[in-house]
Amino acid sequence: MFKYLFLSFILLFEMSFAQTEKLKVLATTSMWADMARVIGSDFVDVETIVPIGSDPHLYEPIPSDVQKIIKADVILVNGLTFENWLVKLITNVSEKNKSILLTKNVTPISSIDHQGATDPHAWMDVENGILYSTEIYKALVRLDPMHEREYEFNFKTYKKQLEELHQYIISSIAKIPIEKRILITSHDAFQYYGKKYGLNLYSLLGISTDADVQSNDLIEINRIIKEKKVPAVFVESTINPKIMQGIQSENKIKIGGKLFADSLGDEHSEGSTYINMIKHNTDVIVSALSTDELFNSDSNNATNSKWIIPFLIVFYIVSIISLILINKK
Ligand SMILES: [Zn+2]
Repeated sequence: MFKYLFLSFILLFEMSFAQTEKLKVLATTSMWADMARVIGSDFVDVETIVPIGSDPHLYEPIPSDVQKIIKADVILVNGLTFENWLVKLITNVSEKNKSILLTKNVTPISSIDHQGATDPHAWMDVENGILYSTEIYKALVRLDPMHEREYEFNFKTYKKQLEELHQYIISSIAKIPIEKRILITSHDAFQYYGKKYGLNLYSLLGISTDADVQSNDLIEINRIIKEKKVPAVFVESTINPKIMQGIQSENKIKIGGKLFADSLGDEHSEGSTYINMIKHNTDVIVSALSTDELFNSDSNNATNSKWIIPFLIVFYIVSIISLILINKK
């Protein structure tokens, strides 16, 4: 009797241990942390280094990041010079290479502004997002083969959702008149998105945010807005909106909305997941660039101006009827 009780106790202890012993996944930013949560579901514990809403280009590691790196079984990294701060940190704390390079099979875009530099923002193209999630899926199966079937099911379901999102973007961007497919943002995070989905990109800062705005770039952006009659510019969730607001008011156009590029939004925001973030960006861009209200930042005036033509028609008809009635008398 005592023997059975003892064995039951051991079994219970092992079960509870197995339940808590999840694969520890560390992601440099919230976008691939989200992908890992979707694919890993209940079998992974996911932590992120750069907090939601912070700028990964300017991130300075804190002591608890070192603990996270030591504890992690796997570290999900973008590469393409996105997390230069991490390379040194990993080399310092661990010789063991736990990093998974998510952009391994991505075709990188060269920076337009900086010769010799690659653009790190590959996740903005959803077909690249599928490549990122494929690398995550492969890493989870390799490190935790016991749950291969669950990972495979989650990955295939997620991949299908990403393929649908890709098609959604294509059909949404098609609604913007071709001459208005111009996206002006604070920093150059949308080249992959623009290249895949057919938007021309202009930004104030380069592919990183650690540079000052050059007056030449400002002049060039203002020239493009006037010449191409651009109806809106966009602010980003991780970047101070001041400069874009200045451009908006100087050109009397509108702020098209807030885009998510280098971080997800919090769980209650429109950018709470990778899929939500890209869908939200697309909806905001399509809505702002499809508008006919050019060069009119005052929405009340814009609404009022819509009534002028119908009002004149009614006024004209009433005048004619009145004249006919007067003549009859
Ligand atoms: Zn960026």
